[in-house]
Amino acid sequence: VLADLGEEQSGIIQLYDERREKIVNALSLIETDMESAFTDHQFVPYFQPKYNINTNSIIGAEALVRWKHPVHGLIPPMDFLPYLENSGIINLDFYMLEESCKFMRKHKDATGDWITLSSNFSTKHFVHDNFCSRVIAIADRYQIPHEYIELEVTETMSMADTDIVKTLFRQLYENKFLISIDDFGSGYSSLGILESFDIDILKLDRSFMQTNMQTKNINMIRGITEIAANNGMKMICEGVETKEQVEILKSTKCHVVQGYYYSKPLSESDFILLLMKK
Ligand code: C2E
Ligand code: CA
Ligand code: CA
Repeated sequence: VLADLGEEQSGIIQLYDERREKIVNALSLIETDMESAFTDHQFVPYFQPKYNINTNSIIGAEALVRWKHPVHGLIPPMDFLPYLENSGIINLDFYMLEESCKFMRKHKDATGDWITLSSNFSTKHFVHDNFCSRVIAIADRYQIPHEYIELEVTETMSMADTDIVKTLFRQLYENKFLISIDDFGSGYSSLGILESFDIDILKLDRSFMQTNMQTKNINMIRGITEIAANNGMKMICEGVETKEQVEILKSTKCHVVQGYYYSKPLSESDFILLLMKK
């Protein structure tokens, strides 16, 4: 038993050391490389398409950041986002919105069609009262009709009772932007938000998608979809990985999905190829 314990503990210490090393590495990477990352366009959007499961057609996509680092290669967001300072994350989100708008403009000019793209916004933006005007400025720079621009926001505790966020969502809504609540049903999200905020879309957290979908889970998805529909909101399910999940969703009112079953996030050129195949 003692020997086992020893081994286990050293395992824990090793894990801890690896993690600490990772964090230290990430921090020094960010401090030295952040500025050039922006100026050299090392942050690139990957696009994960959203599908209508009845028609198998692409109804839009989400832009997800990747750091194309000259030395370390493609770094996923979770390896650097948590270490960014508030101003870093704010700049990055607007940068990603701008990259999305650039893509929408190019796509429109090439095909004549608009595509709806969403990008992610940290709640750190919401203490600044010029958020909406900055979003408008970027949209207008590329002359994108606002209704094709979707903003994904994850609910946090701090949002629950703030008039600031309420006012901000109203401003965005009045300016015709789409607002979606990301990771809905996980963490802090509550039904209260549906009542007090102007929201267009609920993105059901991917924890609802399990390998063996249980009746309880399916009923929950049904219930939430019902609530969304009754309140004029749309629903999308994230993290759809299997055919079984798609079939189950067909029996609910949630017919828009995103997940590996349909497509992983794609580089811009791969996404364009996929759109051309449509
Ligand atoms: P998210 O917004 O919830 O994005 C969905 C994440 O789930 C993405 O991870 C996506 O690659 C992954 N995913 C998609 N389909 C599946 C699936 O079928 N199964 C599984 N297991 N995973 C799936 P990614 O790209 O690593 O992004 C992680 C998180 O980083 C995002 O979660 C979002 O919170 C954040 N993020 C990404 N880009 C930005 C950004 O520009 N700004 C901000 N503030 N956050 C961002
Ligand atoms: Ca998202
Ligand atoms: Ca999500």
